[in-house]
Amino acid sequence: MKRQLVSFLCLSVVALTSLGQAFQSADSGRRVKDQFLAITGAALIDGLGSVPLQDAVVVVAGDRIRAAGPRRSVAVPPHARVIDARGLIIAPGFIDMHNHSERGLDADPAAATQVSQGITTVALGQDGGSEFPIAEYLSKRERSPVALNLLTFVGHATVRLKVLGQDINRRATTAEIEQMSGLVEQGMRDGAYGLSTGLEYETGKPATTAEVIALARVAGRYGGIYVSHIRDEADQTMEALAEAVRIGETARLPVHISHIKLGTVGVWGRVPQAAEIVNGARRRGLDVTADCYPYTAWLSTIKVLVSSDRHDDPADVARGLADVGGASNVTVVECEAHPDYEFKTLDAIAREQRQTPVEMYMRIVRDGGAIIVCRSMREEDVRAFYTQPWVMVSSDGGIGISHPRAAGSFPRVLGRYVREQRWLKLEEAVRKMTSLPAARLGLKDRGVIRAGMKADLVLFDARRVNDRSTFKEPGLIASGVSRVFVNGTEVWRDGAVTGNKPGRVLRHRPGRFRRAHMKSPAS
Ligand SMILES: [Zn+2]
Repeated sequence: MKRQLVSFLCLSVVALTSLGQAFQSADSGRRVKDQFLAITGAALIDGLGSVPLQDAVVVVAGDRIRAAGPRRSVAVPPHARVIDARGLIIAPGFIDMHNHSERGLDADPAAATQVSQGITTVALGQDGGSEFPIAEYLSKRERSPVALNLLTFVGHATVRLKVLGQDINRRATTAEIEQMSGLVEQGMRDGAYGLSTGLEYETGKPATTAEVIALARVAGRYGGIYVSHIRDEADQTMEALAEAVRIGETARLPVHISHIKLGTVGVWGRVPQAAEIVNGARRRGLDVTADCYPYTAWLSTIKVLVSSDRHDDPADVARGLADVGGASNVTVVECEAHPDYEFKTLDAIAREQRQTPVEMYMRIVRDGGAIIVCRSMREEDVRAFYTQPWVMVSSDGGIGISHPRAAGSFPRVLGRYVREQRWLKLEEAVRKMTSLPAARLGLKDRGVIRAGMKADLVLFDARRVNDRSTFKEPGLIASGVSRVFVNGTEVWRDGAVTGNKPGRVLRHRPGRFRRAHMKSPAS
């Protein structure tokens, strides 16, 4: 009897255990279904420049890629959610090396104009201006997450303003440079990816090369890079590029040139000379790269045309107009005093008003100025920059920026330069949007489709992808990007944001590499 009872109990335990296992496997079945995503049938572009792999399978588990390869070698897990992506390209999510979405992300955390381009990671804190303290900004972004992964540089102008106050129009003293170095160090410890400068702007302009070298040295000690909107993008471009290289060589850290361009007639066609400055430095062992946006026009106030600031001096105005190729390259897009001028060229307005373009310029400035679009770059030059293997695609845009590059940059490269003009191979264009910026930033788990990498993915139709944004409507959403995943979670699907906010805050870890430099003296 006693033995029977024991065996009954044992049986029950066995029964209960197997019942438990049954429940458990039903439960993990549900979990598996939630966890596994299989995207099948797309042509896979890995981000490294390899030719597309037809009929691929990409399996995502949680926030990572679990497997990727040809259909015959990658098994679709039995419970996976399957997306049939035949006819589409699957590529790593695009990494925007130069983005201005800091404020825009508060207004639109779903980042429609960005994710619709296939962008999954943005590098902020550009042109010398960053949020500060970095730690505070990054934890704020962690508390209110957004659709995109983001990272930031620490801005030179930002720390300069903190130390010099409003008295920025001068050289900094040794003591002030020391103080700024402390703030850069704080930014690097907080997770910044390096130092950014905007040496063409008001706050950065008065800084000497020596000041920038001192601060760049601090960023370099923490394994960061030097990112620069260089001192001049017009007639003095070559000198400005040489200065950036010198800063990197002296401060011993990698250099990245922001939105490389040739913005005046005097330097048009001189890409070989600009590229040689970079290639020469690369041959000497300096790690130099650049990004470039795919437009030939910039947007700013009309007064930037006359760098002497003598806006009523006919000779200076004439020179300013000639530098950008003439008044027909200048379009007024916003003019409070004369709304009837909007979306007309300065040349056309002058003819209508029976004045010379120079007189017309002076009158507009006298009446309160205007916002202009200036077509002072040539597409041949943009193209020549893009054919350099170290030039990556960036937008210099961001949420709410009133230039079509804000919503169109990445699709424009894929549609215009790859499909229509055929001078950039699709896989090379994708490399410039993914593994190249990832390598530049030291992001080891993004920018490539491979097992173990984070599942930042974009699905697009190579036959349709294109920009639609214009100077009149800079926020028009691009076409042809079907689905976008950030850390395995869908953020864009068939023309609309999903509202998910899986973006992560990425922090640079000081001392993870370039440890040798940590030991060098601080000065
Ligand atoms: Zn800039």
